Amino acid sequence: MAFRDDKKTLSSVKSVAVVGGGVSGLAAAYKLKSQGVRVTLFEADERAGGKLRSVSRDGLIWDEGANTMMSCTFPEVWKLEKEFGSIILGAIRSKFSQRKDDNKERKNSSGERKKRGSFSFYGGMQTLTDGLCNELGDDLKLNSKVLSLSYNHDRNTLLDNWSVSYATNHKEYSPKPSFDAVIMTAPLCNVKEMKIKKMGLPFDLGFLPEVNYVPLSVIITTFKKENVKRPLAGFGVLVPSKEQQNSLKTLGTLFSSTMFPERAPSDVYLYTTFVGGSRDRNLAKASVDELKQVVTSDLRKLLGAEGEPALFKYRPCCFYWSKAFPLYGRNYNSVLEAINEMEGSLPGFFYAGNHRGGLSVGKAIASGCKAADLVLSYLNSSQLCSDLVDKMLTKWAVAMDHADGSYKTPFSSP
Ligand SMILES: Cc1cc2nc3c(=O)[nH]c(=O)nc-3n(C[C@H](O)[C@H](O)[C@H](O)COP(=O)(O)OP(=O)(O)OC[C@H]3O[C@@H](n4cnc5c(N)ncnc54)[C@H](O)[C@@H]3O)c2cc1C
Repeated sequence: MAFRDDKKTLSSVKSVAVVGGGVSGLAAAYKLKSQGVRVTLFEADERAGGKLRSVSRDGLIWDEGANTMMSCTFPEVWKLEKEFGSIILGAIRSKFSQRKDDNKERKNSSGERKKRGSFSFYGGMQTLTDGLCNELGDDLKLNSKVLSLSYNHDRNTLLDNWSVSYATNHKEYSPKPSFDAVIMTAPLCNVKEMKIKKMGLPFDLGFLPEVNYVPLSVIITTFKKENVKRPLAGFGVLVPSKEQQNSLKTLGTLFSSTMFPERAPSDVYLYTTFVGGSRDRNLAKASVDELKQVVTSDLRKLLGAEGEPALFKYRPCCFYWSKAFPLYGRNYNSVLEAINEMEGSLPGFFYAGNHRGGLSVGKAIASGCKAADLVLSYLNSSQLCSDLVDKMLTKWAVAMDHADGSYKTPFSSP
């Protein structure tokens, strides 16, 4: 989709830096660009997408991060673990409620019909972020880790401006020109590492609370269908912590080829298993061999899977997220207060992403879009202010011109 040239709004001459190329940053940048704002998105990693990460290989497609987008929120899925006492019951009930939900159409506030349930994309969730990256083109800077941000205010024009310095392959850059606003979507632990200046003075981020993160490994396996003796119905199993007494060590497994049959050959089951979490942080970062053994052992017990998973024969299919999710307990309010304090103290600074509005992909996107909307109104109001100052200066300059007859202003005609 090409952006329309006729979107010449007040903010069309403005430029915004977006930090973090996860789904929230990409959504924010896309929305701003589609409104005619000049955007530069800085992503520290060599790829954009953040926690959306899909792999396509050997006729299989799998996700190593988020697997689906839901109309209900992701934490609700994990709540299943508490709600359902046993794995099998969980599998049956989750399928049952999925069916019920699929048949249930709800109306949203504007009266439109809205279907509940979860969905993904043919090539995996990364299809979404890849699409947004294509739209951004050269406005997306990969391998660009933002190190510092500096806010200044021009007393003459009354305009705020931000400069950003970032590192690429250990070289530091401070590009010019500066930006009119910043949308920060990097996790708070990364923001804490950044240096921020306000009007030339260091801005202390000490008030940002320490966030506790959950580590997680995602392990992909395939078994020939004929080797799975007790394939369960439903889209997956969650393993309640009490099942650890029965020596089950995984957190849960998604039946990926049942959810998305086109992602694997018809004679193969594709599974996505989660290991670690707050239940067993050390296991999350165990060696590939140990993870392989843990997952294979659990799938044997749960599903009667026999033999070795096929993918393991060739290569390990594990992805380790050292900070998969921010874990909020009672300190969530202090996190929100700190974010509000950052925004309140730094004009033109907006924070979005899963640390704010909720952990699901849908909520991260909504948070990015909301930040983009706030930036647009901020840019429009600061532009109005600056236009007013321009007008007053013009009036004043013309008055001066008339007063001594010798003073030509850029605004007066020759
Ligand atoms: C294993 C796993 C499974 C999940 N499953 C689901 C699911 O099925 N459904 C669902 O709805 N949600 C799921 N989630 C949650 C969801 O994927 C995330 O909450 C969401 O994608 C977060 O998006 P984000 O843009 O807020 O943050 P992130 O994706 O974390 O993006 C932040 C970006 O900022 C970049 N960054 C950090 N520091 C800097 C810096 N200094 N300079 C520049 N860039 C920087 C990072 O490299 C990263 O790309 C899952 C998450 C995980 C980890």
